[in-house]
Amino acid sequence: MTVDSIKNGVVIDHITAGRGMEIYELLGLGSSDATVAIMKNVPSTKMGRKDIIKIDGDMAINLDVIGYVDPCATVNIIRDGVLVEKKSIDMPALLTDVIRCKNPRCITSTEQELAHVFKLTDRENRVYRCIYCETKGEAKRT
Ligand code: ZN
Repeated sequence: MTVDSIKNGVVIDHITAGRGMEIYELLGLGSSDATVAIMKNVPSTKMGRKDIIKIDGDMAINLDVIGYVDPCATVNIIRDGVLVEKKSIDMPALLTDVIRCKNPRCITSTEQELAHVFKLTDRENRVYRCIYCETKGEAKRT
């Protein structure tokens, strides 16, 4: 599957090598019906190595997930085989129900219906903290 072969879908490009899987998991692509391809360690003149995720099929992408994992990634929307939109990605100020607070004493662990909300507290180091208990959001980093 190449970009050209996608008629309608989404291509997440320029993912920092090694982070493709995390985006895949946080977007819940494993449980989606769409045809999904992850390409890892693709040679890139700009980045050395990069990951690419191609989703063949109409699917709403949670851009907050991508902004959280890798704000340098680009999201291309393909319609009828043509690139119709390049979405700009930014780190979201608030991250709702993307990652979960790991603090067992946090109110979110007893109040199950509460949304897990994290706030961007340090843009440079990409640190998110739980808005309830200020525990740092831990992302899997490979
Ligand atoms: Zn918390």
